[in-house]
Amino acid sequence: MNPIIIVHGGAGDIPTSRVKGKLDGSKKAAIAGHEILAKGGSALDAVEAAVVSMEKDEYFNAGYGSVLNLRGEVEMEASIMCGKNLDVGAVTLVKDFLHPISIAHKVLTDSPHSLLGGEGAKIFALDKGFNTVYPGSLISPHAKKALDDFLKHGEFGRTEIGALNKADVGTVGAVAIDINGQIAVATSTGGMSGKAVGRIGDTPQIGSGTYADNLIGGVSTTGHGESILKYCVAHNIVKLMENGLDANTATKKAIDDMTSRLNNTAGAITLSKNGDIGIHYTSQRMSWAYIKDKKIYYGINHGEVFEEQHEL
Ligand code: ASP
Repeated sequence: MNPIIIVHGGAGDIPTSRVKGKLDGSKKAAIAGHEILAKGGSALDAVEAAVVSMEKDEYFNAGYGSVLNLRGEVEMEASIMCGKNLDVGAVTLVKDFLHPISIAHKVLTDSPHSLLGGEGAKIFALDKGFNTVYPGSLISPHAKKALDDFLKHGEFGRTEIGALNKADVGTVGAVAIDINGQIAVATSTGGMSGKAVGRIGDTPQIGSGTYADNLIGGVSTTGHGESILKYCVAHNIVKLMENGLDANTATKKAIDDMTSRLNNTAGAITLSKNGDIGIHYTSQRMSWAYIKDKKIYYGINHGEVFEEQHEL
């Protein structure tokens, strides 16, 4: 099987000034993951590498650059899933670690549990040798400004489409299939600007933010977390594919249905076990990139697909 990786850099009302940074960062992340796949590496390692690349990049709402809660703090969440045996690892309410996705991957491989939160996630991470970063060092100037804007203009609880996307949300995610046909998915986020302290969204919840099953495919989602988790969007898309829809039709149906039922926006990237791609979002923009058959494809606006040759 030819390996394939697809990434997203978050759905939302992305200002034009952030478009280039998100596109460049999404391409870089897809390349980082694809390098691992091309050497025969696993889909799990590839999706982790792609997400790590975006967690380091201030253009994304994950790791450094995560948006801030009402107390002005970073509280991050991440999940990862292996489609072979449905193993999962997830963390939530994580502070002061640059790469929550790597901790989630360790939960998958080294913990009897699926989801660790807050103090417990920190104890686990320290025990596994992850280093904390200096308190406050994950806060970017852009995230500070987004919280200030939210405090001035934000109205949590409004449900008009796009209302909660003004604060430049933008989770990151990756879905890959390796040369052995193994599928893995990873998703990581800082959540939403101005969220309550202790708020947990869709990203660490398996079936909402992330789902992978070698027998069907894999999905990573982004957008309004409270809506995505009510609709179990990632699992919903996988089930639609199991019932015969192709990756793109299933992705479009689940995201459109969620938006019309709950009046909030979301996006998702999907890869079927046959290597078919699904990309759909109801927000104004969502950056995405994928590498398939020596080509890299990418875009951020509706109907837009750029294509370049990608040789290793
Ligand atoms: N889904 C994320 C959350 O609600 C936000 C995002 O995707 O931008 O936490």
